Parts: sequence; C-alpha cells; structure tokens
Amino acid sequence: MMRAARLHAYAEPLVIERVPRPEPDQGQVVVKVEGAGFCHSDLHIIDGDLKLDLILPLTLGHENAGVVAEVGHGVRAVKPGDPVAVYGGWGCGYCDMCITGTEQMCSKPNWVGLSDYDGGYAEYLLVPHARYLVPLKELEPKVAAPFTDAALTPYRAIKRALPALTPDRPVLVIGAGGLGQFGIKLLRLMTASPIIVVDVNEEKLQIAREYGAHYALDGRDPEVAAQVKDIGSGSGVGAAFDFVGADSTLELAFATTRPGGKVTQIGLAGGHADLKLFTNLPFEVMFEGTLWGSIKELREVIALADSGRLTPIELEFESLDRINAVYENLKAGKIAGRAVITP
Ligand SMILES: [Zn+2]
Ligand SMILES: [Zn+2]
Repeated sequence: MMRAARLHAYAEPLVIERVPRPEPDQGQVVVKVEGAGFCHSDLHIIDGDLKLDLILPLTLGHENAGVVAEVGHGVRAVKPGDPVAVYGGWGCGYCDMCITGTEQMCSKPNWVGLSDYDGGYAEYLLVPHARYLVPLKELEPKVAAPFTDAALTPYRAIKRALPALTPDRPVLVIGAGGLGQFGIKLLRLMTASPIIVVDVNEEKLQIAREYGAHYALDGRDPEVAAQVKDIGSGSGVGAAFDFVGADSTLELAFATTRPGGKVTQIGLAGGHADLKLFTNLPFEVMFEGTLWGSIKELREVIALADSGRLTPIELEFESLDRINAVYENLKAGKIAGRAVITP
C-alpha cells in the first residue's frame, strides 16, 4: 500500500488515503515520486471549473519526477535507481498527433493525473511506457519536477512564436506566476527581444525584474496598454504570451500586438476575446492556444536545466499532508514561484 492525495468530489479538499501501490505490467515503469509540482490548473480542476470528464476518485499531480522503483518485463531504457523526469502528456500512441510526436494533443488523452491515470500526489506513480521518462544527470528529481510543465509549456509556446520574436521588437508576458517566470527565463535564453512583463502583484513584478525582464508594469494601471505600445515604438509588441487567459488579459494582448505579430494563450482562466477587424484586431495577427509540450521538447528543456543554463524558479517543498494548505495558498496568491509536493 502507499499514501496518495485524491480528488473525490469537486470543490472539496483532497483526501489523503492509503491505496494499493502500483505494479508495472509489461513495458511499464513504476517511479518513486520525489517531487510533484502543484500547478495552477489543479486549482481549476479541484474547483470543477475545468471539465475533463474525470472518473473520480483520482490522484492528481501532472508535474512529476523521481527515481525508477521497478520496471516491467521488456523495459531496457531505464533501470531501478535511475533519476528521471516524467513526461505527462500521455496519449493513445496511435492517432496522428501521437505518431507525429505531439502526444499531448492526442484526441483520446491519457494525461497523467488528468485522465483515468493517477498522478504524482502519491508515493509511487505508474508510467505506462518508458518513452515518457527523461533521465536526469545533475538535477535532483524534486527540483526537476516543475520543469515537466511549468517550464515545458512556455518553452513550446515560445519556440512556436520564434519567427515573431525579433531583436528590434519587444515581447509581452502577461502574468508572472510559475509558468510566466519560466517564460521570462526562457525568453532570455532563446531570444534577443526586450521583455515587458505585466502583473497585478508587486512581488511578482520584482521577481520578473530579477529574472531579466526589461520592463515590469502594473496591470492595474488603466494606461498599461498605452505604456506597452509606447515601448514598442507606438505600434506594439512582436508577440504576446498570456499566462492568465482572462477576458482582460486577452484584451490587453490583442490591444498591444503589432500587425503581423502573434498572440499565444497559455493560461486557462476561461476568458474570451471579442475581436473585430478595423476595431480592435490588428491585421494578420496570429492567435494560438498552445498545449503543454512534446516528449522531444521535454528532452530539450531538461537538457537546458541539467546543464545549468535554465535555472529553477523559487521552489517551496511541502509534504503530502500539507497539500490542501498548498491549494489554499496558491489560490490566495501566496506562492511566489512553485510549490512542490514531496510524497
Ligand atoms: Zn499544469
Ligand atoms: Zn493519440
């Protein structure tokens, strides 16, 4: 048996209980979880705002890393004792998305901790295939955990927007939470665009400055859109990344992106943009809602992290027993970087 924090009903605290410890079938791997990042999307799921047709009870936790505990028959890529980061965008392995390497966009997703498959808020995690494991060289697993989502998601979003990220144009980051903070660090590594960050929290704006943002603006200022456009020489930014995804933040992104630029939505706050050409939509602006990242992209992110080029954001380690307190703190905006559960 093992301990796990499970969602039994929406809008109720997670239940910490004893469940059977998973055993690996052929080709599967069981990982002893050393870190499971507590993600903002977990808030939306626990609250019942994000509908994923989950069958409850379910162990949440989709940002996982640990040490291989046991391998099933036929697994040769990893062995017990290996430190690994766990890719979480599990798919069916058969559809067009899966076979072309973007498994996170599978039409029948089996995402860890977000589908029928239990996640990492538990002592052990069943991983259905060894291809989901990225070996770690230097990085401690509990530090590596948030890279599997909080870093991977902005990495994919930025990579897909690279043609719009030129050195002569600023880039806008809206929301400097966990993903936004990794977004700032990654923009510094991957582009030469001056970085403008907008947030409503002064502490997060300070973190943004420390991580290399060239401008950190208060989103509560009614002039914020004009300020962003001014920095972009009047015509706006080359690309905007909305890590919040509310009505007001999407509006800000479209209002400040130059014609021919790109707006990427990453945050899942449920907002919508009301767009009209000749009114508030610049010509030839591309819009994309990116999703997580691919296995290959996680290998790239771990290569950046393991070599020290991409450093972690501020991490707070918490025991499994404290998981409902972590939920409350994240909801209250009291977590500056990322909370990681260490089961
Ligand atoms: Zn997440
Ligand atoms: Zn698939």
